[in-house]
Amino acid sequence: MIQEKNGTWVSWNENLIYDYKNLYRIENEQELQDVVSKADKIRFFGTKQSSADIAAGIETLIDITTYNKIISYNDSEHTVTVQSGLILGDLLEAIEAKGWCIPCLPDINTITIGGALATGTHGTSGKLLCEYMTSCTIVLADGSLKTITEGEEMMDAIRVSLGALGIMSTVTFKCEPIYTLHVKEFPENDSEWLPKINDRLKKHDFLRILWMPHTDHGYVITGDKIDPDTEIKEDLGPAYLKHRRTASKILYKYSHVYPWITAIANKIIHKAFFSSTKEHKGSLYQATVTKSRGSVIELAEWTIGLNKFPQVFEELKTEINKWSNKSFIHIPMDVRFIQKDNSWLSYAYKEDMVTMGCVSRNAATADSYEAFKSIEKIFLKYGGKPHWGKRFAAKNNQLTKIYAKWEDFKVLRQKMDPTDKFLNPYLTKLFNA
Ligand SMILES: Cc1cc2nc3c(=O)[nH]c(=O)nc-3n(C[C@H](O)[C@H](O)[C@H](O)COP(=O)(O)OP(=O)(O)OC[C@H]3O[C@@H](n4cnc5c(N)ncnc54)[C@H](O)[C@@H]3O)c2cc1C
Repeated sequence: MIQEKNGTWVSWNENLIYDYKNLYRIENEQELQDVVSKADKIRFFGTKQSSADIAAGIETLIDITTYNKIISYNDSEHTVTVQSGLILGDLLEAIEAKGWCIPCLPDINTITIGGALATGTHGTSGKLLCEYMTSCTIVLADGSLKTITEGEEMMDAIRVSLGALGIMSTVTFKCEPIYTLHVKEFPENDSEWLPKINDRLKKHDFLRILWMPHTDHGYVITGDKIDPDTEIKEDLGPAYLKHRRTASKILYKYSHVYPWITAIANKIIHKAFFSSTKEHKGSLYQATVTKSRGSVIELAEWTIGLNKFPQVFEELKTEINKWSNKSFIHIPMDVRFIQKDNSWLSYAYKEDMVTMGCVSRNAATADSYEAFKSIEKIFLKYGGKPHWGKRFAAKNNQLTKIYAKWEDFKVLRQKMDPTDKFLNPYLTKLFNA
C-alpha cells in the first residue's frame, strides 16, 4: 500500500478540488479493512468522473483504482468476480474474450466497478449495471467484512448506495452469452420519434435517442440482435464525423457569455454531424460504448416514468425554446430507457423509466449553465430523480418525496455507520445527517 500525505484531490474535469492529509492506494482487501478501521472519517474514489461531490472532500481518502484484479470466473454459472477498482472496460474486454457480456452498458468504459455501482450507473434499454451483481463483499465502518448475496433484502439496499453503507470490496457479476447487435442510426423529427418510443422499445433490443435541443430533431439509434454472420450494409457515415466533439467544443466556446450562441451552434452541429444515416454491427460494447472522449464535460441527468416522459419533454422543449430564458442546452440530450427493479435508491425502483442527460461542453463554466437548473426544476415538478453521480441541487427534503425507500435507506445508513465515518459534507447535507 502506498500512502501519500498532504496533496490535492482533483476531479476529472477539475470542477471539484480538495486538499487531503492522507491518501491510501490500496491493493488488497486486508489493506482496505485496515485503513477503514483506523480512520475517523474516510471517503474513497475511482476514476473521479462523477460531477456530484460524493467522492472526496475530507482529510483521509482511499484510491480504489489500484485494487483492480479479476479474481475468478465460474464457467458453468457465467459469473465473474472482480475487485471493485477494476476499470469497466477491462472487465468487458475480459468477459468478451470468454464469449460473455453484460447486456446493458453505460456509454463510458473508463469508470471503476465500485464507482459505477455506487451511483446507479445505467445503460440503454435495460437495467442498471448493479442489477447484474449477484453477490459482493463490503467493508463496513468498523473495518469488518460482510458478504451480501442476491435474494437478501440487504442486496436491494446495497446495489445503489453511494458508498454510504460501506466500501464495495469484491463484486460478482452474472454475465450472459455475447450477442451481435445490428445498429442503425438516423435523424428524425421530434414529432416522429417521440410517439414511437413505446413501439420501438417493444421492437428493438436497443434504443437510444440523442435529442438535439433547438433543432426539433432527435438522432435515433436502434439495435437488433442478429446472427454474427449476417451480412449488413456497413455505413459509418462521412469520415469527418469523428471531429464532432472538437467542433462542438469550438462552437460552444463562448456560449457561457452569450448563451443564445448555443441555438445557432446546435443547428450547425445537427446539420453537419447528425443528419446522415449509419449502419454497423458489433457486440453491445464494441458497437455502442464510447471508447475515448477528446475533452472533459459536465453532466446532469434526470429520470422520469416512461408514461410521463412525453409531457415532461414538451414542457422542457417549450421552456428552453423561449428566447427570454437562458437555458440553451448543448447537443445532445441523451434519452435512454431503464427497466424497473427493486433497488432502493435506483432511479427505476418499481417503475420503467426514461433518462435524459444534460451536458455542458464547457465544464469550467458549468456553474453558470442555466440548463442544469431548468431541467432540475421541470423534472422535480413531475417527481423525476437525479443521477447520483451527476450534477443536481436537490437534497433530503426533495429526495424523501421521490424515493419510496429514502427514509428506510437513511435508517439503515445510520445503523451501519453510526459515527458517519463515510459521510463527506455533501453527503451529510444530502441525507440531512
Ligand atoms: C463522460 C461520462 C459518461 C458517463 N456515462 C454514463 C452512462 O452512460 N450511464 C450512467 O449511468 N452514468 C454515466 N456516467 C456517470 C458515471 O458512470 C458515474 O459518475 C460513476 O460513478 C463514475 O465512476 P468513477 O469510477 O469515476 O467513480 P467516482 O466518481 O470516483 O466515485 C463515485 C462514487 O462512488 C463511490 N465509490 C467508488 N468506489 C467505491 C467502492 N468500491 N465502493 C463503494 N463506493 C465507491 C465514491 O466514493 C463516490 O461516492 C458518465 C460520466 C461521464 C463523465
